[in-house]
Amino acid sequence: MKPLLLLDVDGVLNPTGRPTPDFRRYRCTVDGTAYTVHLNQRHGVRLLELALAAGAELVWATTWEHHANDWIAPRLGLPSLPVIAMGPDDRAVSRHGEMFKTRRVADYVGDRPFVWFDDQVYQEDENYLRARQGLGEFLLIHVPGEAGLTSRHLDVAREWLTLTGLSQGRSWEK
Ligand SMILES: [Mg+2]
Repeated sequence: MKPLLLLDVDGVLNPTGRPTPDFRRYRCTVDGTAYTVHLNQRHGVRLLELALAAGAELVWATTWEHHANDWIAPRLGLPSLPVIAMGPDDRAVSRHGEMFKTRRVADYVGDRPFVWFDDQVYQEDENYLRARQGLGEFLLIHVPGEAGLTSRHLDVAREWLTLTGLSQGRSWEK
C-alpha cells in the first residue's frame, strides 16, 4: 500500500513569518479574494524526491483544496495532486480537541499509512487519530509556521518511512 504524504499550504509551503531570499512572492485570486503567498521552488523538488524515494503519493490537505492545484502546485513544479475535501470548519464537533481538518484526513486516508505535514497538528490531533478505529500507521509532523517546511522535516519523514518498512522505494535508494 502506497504511503501518503499529506501537505498543508499555509504555514508549511507558505510560511507565516518573514520569508528568506529563497522564497518568491506571488499573488493569487481565489473566489474573488486576493492573497499573497511566498513559495520556495526547492520545496517542490524535495517533496518530489521524497515521494519518489519512498514510493509515496503526495496529497493536498489544505483549506486551499483544489485551488492549490491552480495556484501552488505549478509554482513549485509539482503536478496536479489529489485533494482532501475540507468543507467548513465545524470545530464545534471536535471531541478530542482535534482541529476540523483531522477528521477529514481520517476519512480520506482509510487504512493507508500517511505522513502529514501541518503547522496546526498537535497532541490532540494525534489522540484523535490514535482513538479512531481502522487507520493505518501514521506520523504527524508539526511544522512551525513561521519558517515553514525545512529539510529536517523531510528527513524525519524519510527516516520514519524507512524504519517502519513503509517506504516502497527501490533498493538502490538506500
Ligand atoms: Mg496551515
